[in-house]
Amino acid sequence: MQEKVGVCANCGVDIWCRGGFLQGAVREDGRLVCLRCEADDERNGRSSSLPLSPEVSPHQSSSRNE
Ligand SMILES: [Zn+2]
Repeated sequence: MQEKVGVCANCGVDIWCRGGFLQGAVREDGRLVCLRCEADDERNGRSSSLPLSPEVSPHQSSSRNE
């Protein structure tokens, strides 16, 4: 028994529910994506924290005006 649940919000393939198992994943924002896109997302590290590069604040040496 399988039932079409929807389409992947990323690549557009049909996502089915087979035997009660969803052949995809629901993202935190509620979008439905296929397992492949979900795996790709994890591989790209979208959810993991990226190394923070502190904003470069140019240290402008204030020249003294006399
Ligand atoms: Zn997909």
